[in-house]
Amino acid sequence: MSEMRVWQNHRGHLLDTVKGFDVIECEPCGFKHIIPIPTIDELEVVYRQEYYSLEKPLYLERHKEDLEWWNLVYSERYDTFEELLPPHRRRILDVGSGPGLFLIHGEQQGWQTLGIEPSTQAAAHSCGLGLEIVQDFLTEQTAKQLGTFDVVHMSEVLEHIPDPRGMLNIARSLLAPEGLICVVVPSDYNPFQQVLRTACGYKPWWVAPPHHINFFDFESLSHLLSSTGFGIVLREATYPHRHVPADGR
Ligand SMILES: [Zn+2]
Repeated sequence: MSEMRVWQNHRGHLLDTVKGFDVIECEPCGFKHIIPIPTIDELEVVYRQEYYSLEKPLYLERHKEDLEWWNLVYSERYDTFEELLPPHRRRILDVGSGPGLFLIHGEQQGWQTLGIEPSTQAAAHSCGLGLEIVQDFLTEQTAKQLGTFDVVHMSEVLEHIPDPRGMLNIARSLLAPEGLICVVVPSDYNPFQQVLRTACGYKPWWVAPPHHINFFDFESLSHLLSSTGFGIVLREATYPHRHVPADGR
């Protein structure tokens, strides 16, 4: 077994060390994350100014290349919300709405939308599409001005957040009764990646501090959601995942 690491209230077995950050299987949190955990202040510049210009400069071009596929993904997601909600409940908040492409799809499908997005460039692009966007991080303070929603959508957000449990609590406070949260995260440390490491000597390229702080899988994300008061209604993966049935077969 690997050695234990402890940082503040976090402790767990060490999985990897990249650029001075350790990834641990954190026992109190119940999911993998890096330590030290970057602070909100350290991430402020990254997500307000740099993310879409330095980290994802080709985001829109790549998205356009795959537009047909994204439209299918988005349609299916809104269809799922519509199956689970009564017809009059069509108000959605997209947390980390990026350039606004998911929300535009919702508008076209008859949804009332709001985005919250810290990046200056991404928020400007969304506003140019005619979307209503709050350019900020989602915090307890900023949440107060947003209202309530039938769906809170958080795609590829929780892996970037210093306190995912706190973020889910804020999201829950924004939901109308029986509202839905849709959380999409990468599944790193998955079996494909493990095989590439052990059989082919790959390095853990998915460990990218300070951008990716947390690493989830079905079990750890489900546990985090249920321990913050959410019931799980649907779990999906975009590629085959190892699934061990409850009886162990
Ligand atoms: Zn922890």
